[in-house]
Amino acid sequence: MIVILFGAPGSGKGTQAQRVAVTTDTPHVSTGAILRGEVARGSELGREAKPIMESGALVPDELMVRMIESRLAEPDAERGVILDGFPRTVPQAEALDRMLGRNQREVGLVLYLEVDPELIRERVLRRAAIDGRSDDNPDALAERMRVYQRDTAPVVEYYERAGTRIGRIDGSPPIDQVTEQILAVLGAEPAR
Ligand code: ADP
Repeated sequence: MIVILFGAPGSGKGTQAQRVAVTTDTPHVSTGAILRGEVARGSELGREAKPIMESGALVPDELMVRMIESRLAEPDAERGVILDGFPRTVPQAEALDRMLGRNQREVGLVLYLEVDPELIRERVLRRAAIDGRSDDNPDALAERMRVYQRDTAPVVEYYERAGTRIGRIDGSPPIDQVTEQILAVLGAEPAR
């Protein structure tokens, strides 16, 4: 199944996607992680994306759609994937639907991690102190939250209108409890 893990920056979607991917043995496709890899390798895409990511803005849809299209064409994605960080705009969601439709596939579930904005701010600023991600500074975070409200939040409404199954998850409790809620929605057994 194609599952989208959706939520604001700092909602914990990366952490949860990783855990759910391991428990359900499904590939975790994180556009943020792929982009950071490209930046680290100094590829053409990485050089283009770096200043955009550092400012908190979004990398152009066209580049992201191409990146996802080639990732979903890999053999391990045939069983399904956990998408983390994509789609982040309505045009990306539309492009994803078109690309899946060509292969008689569709988005099976949107997991929407809901977290209070104040808690998000605390988490991201704490993460900045720990991993030193260059876009986790207060200015870039404020921009990422604005971009999220303006461009990304409407993606949930897009899937509501499309009649896609949406699982709303309370993302504020401790990590394990959030994972349990997600696995319950997926109907999967927690890992022992
Ligand atoms: P977070 O969810 O914590 O903001 P991510 O690791 O998902 O961080 O993404 C980091 C940055 O990578 C984003 O702020 C954006 O610049 C870029 N990015 C990731 N995914 C996308 C996407 N689907 N479309 C455009 N830009 C993206």
